[in-house]
Amino acid sequence: MLSIGREIVDAIVAHARRDHPDEACGIVAGPAGSDTPTRHIPMDNAERSMTFFSFDPAEQFRVWARMDERDEEPVVIYHSHTATEAYPSRTDIEIAGYPDAHYLLVSTRDPATTEIRSFRIVDKTVTEEPVRILDASVDPVAVTTYMFGQSPTTVDYECSA
Ligand SMILES: [Zn+2]
Repeated sequence: MLSIGREIVDAIVAHARRDHPDEACGIVAGPAGSDTPTRHIPMDNAERSMTFFSFDPAEQFRVWARMDERDEEPVVIYHSHTATEAYPSRTDIEIAGYPDAHYLLVSTRDPATTEIRSFRIVDKTVTEEPVRILDASVDPVAVTTYMFGQSPTTVDYECSA
């Protein structure tokens, strides 16, 4: 399962809509080993194509170097399909080199609705996985922190101490 913040999904969809009818691509980096996508990095589609994408090698080098500095990895690798469904093409499967990444596909073929699907691609085998979109307002960690800070017991204790 991919768990991803709504604001990141919104930014990815906005990028895909902006580049339509060309395919848009990018990554969402996150702390190594966390499986948590936190830093959205829209990238250039070097192909400028409606049917194919590839990262610009110089940009990819810079982005990957920055991730190394920050001890991050590409948690999500995304691109859009602009005329077909959000499912990896044969080429997508061929070039998928990150077995630990979530391959997120966005389809912008319908102007009114956006299709978002996520896959694992390991040894050229595609497995779809559920996408859980997290709202910042119901983030479990944020709720826990808030309740602890507002707990009457905690306040009483601090007052009497
Ligand atoms: Zn594709």
